[in-house]
Amino acid sequence: MTHRRIVTLIGVMLLIQVGCNKFIKVFEDDNDSPFSYDYKFYQPFHKIANELYRLSDTSRRHSVFSIGKTFEKRKLYAFKIDNTADKDDRKTIVIDCGAHAREWIAPSTCMYLLKKLTDNSKKDKRIGKLRKRYDFVIIPVLNPDGYVHTWKGNATRLWRKNRSFTKDQMKIFLKTKNPLCIGVDVNRNFDKAWGGPGAPVNNPCFEMFAGAHAFSEKESQALAKYLNSTRDDVISYVSLHNFGQVWTTPWGFTKKEPAVYDELKRVASLATKSMKKMFGVNYTVGTSHDEIYPNSGSSTDWAYSKLSIKYPYLIEMRPKTASNQSFLLPDAVMYRNAQEILEGIKTMALNFKH
Ligand SMILES: [Zn+2]
Repeated sequence: MTHRRIVTLIGVMLLIQVGCNKFIKVFEDDNDSPFSYDYKFYQPFHKIANELYRLSDTSRRHSVFSIGKTFEKRKLYAFKIDNTADKDDRKTIVIDCGAHAREWIAPSTCMYLLKKLTDNSKKDKRIGKLRKRYDFVIIPVLNPDGYVHTWKGNATRLWRKNRSFTKDQMKIFLKTKNPLCIGVDVNRNFDKAWGGPGAPVNNPCFEMFAGAHAFSEKESQALAKYLNSTRDDVISYVSLHNFGQVWTTPWGFTKKEPAVYDELKRVASLATKSMKKMFGVNYTVGTSHDEIYPNSGSSTDWAYSKLSIKYPYLIEMRPKTASNQSFLLPDAVMYRNAQEILEGIKTMALNFKH
């Protein structure tokens, strides 16, 4: 090949490269593109997954991995912010969202937490402090099959359970033609007081159906396996839901208070007070049993009793009371909620006693 031809070829290759980069840039900036994520609006599952990979590329301390697969073979994504890799004494805070499909503000809030907690620009000094003390593992959509189902249209928007079924369940569904007879309530399927108060096991057509047996579901199995594998590092496990504006401690299955109730309440009260300072939101603090309603087989009761995780919380976020918007909050309220919860999580973590 002559020298002139080689120069021309290199020129053409450079032009192609510049053209590709320009295309990628335009594609990333376009909010309507199939991949870009807009934190001010609810986002479908594929955009959440793509954003996790994008954030994982922003630091060698960030990684995305899967803790398991669902009934419909979707990945259960988890994101780790590995702040204390060089320390012997690791302390991890695990947060999950979206166990209940229709509670759309939960995955959005988890993603907002991730965005802010992965920001190492040092703009927020308290986040800087947290980054020195804790690793974070965030599971933004614990029930992706259900979440994807709620995005199909108005008829399915208020779906709560996952999308699994047993042969018996399918028989009942075919006989009754009641779509509610499919699926299991992921947050009633853990092996702590399974099938107790608020967790029906005899009729799969209930929205809170607890499953064929404890840990019958892929999502609860995967979360339990992951938490168990890292139990010595986990100082806190937080599960985000809506609604009710309550920051709750175990127990859900009994009226009894847990042994460390005063300490759990102290931290939760500081967190909710700091949230009130932002936009005036009112949260109450108490046991899940008293503040929500009796509920058995929950992940927080299980994590507290079986893994002895020191600070287990279930937070029911906005709104305060039931309305026709309970699960259909406008995007602007979702965004405010996410900002408040970040504030609460920061205050919570900075007040842990080790
Ligand atoms: Zn929920």
